[in-house]
Amino acid sequence: MATRLLKCYGSCEKKYPQEELEKLGGKNYCSACATAKKKIDGPRKRFLDYINLKFGTIDGRMMKDVKRMMEENEYTYIDMYLCSSYCFDVKGMIPDMKYGLAFIVHYMTEAQNYASFVRTQREQASKIPDDISKPMEVTINMNDKSSSTIIKERKLFDMGEWD
Ligand SMILES: [Zn+2]
Repeated sequence: MATRLLKCYGSCEKKYPQEELEKLGGKNYCSACATAKKKIDGPRKRFLDYINLKFGTIDGRMMKDVKRMMEENEYTYIDMYLCSSYCFDVKGMIPDMKYGLAFIVHYMTEAQNYASFVRTQREQASKIPDDISKPMEVTINMNDKSSSTIIKERKLFDMGEWD
């Protein structure tokens, strides 16, 4: 019995035996194309879920803005996600349907600067435990900042994609 070959829905445009294909969103993908798709879909879903959570909805205008920013500004979903998280979780901005996603372009540079600042802080912080000769500095640093700031920064740390 001949094995039935099915076309991969990804960019390779090749045919494969069914057992070598993986189903994503009801479509068949070879392992290479499935990996590539997941790499994009993961951040895409994360960003859109986040926007949906913050605004309570995603409308057509917002989706158009996303498309436009990806084309004109060459932002990735990760860029837009981290910028949104920076604005709402770190800066404490309130999502406003009137302006939709217009804030992203406005704050992207600031968000990227903040991410690189956090990254430097994290690198320095990771060196502290090795330096047992200065245990006091750890205590001082912790008291220096409000606990909420530390938690918010850690939240941005965990994303890590701008590394
Ligand atoms: Zn493929």
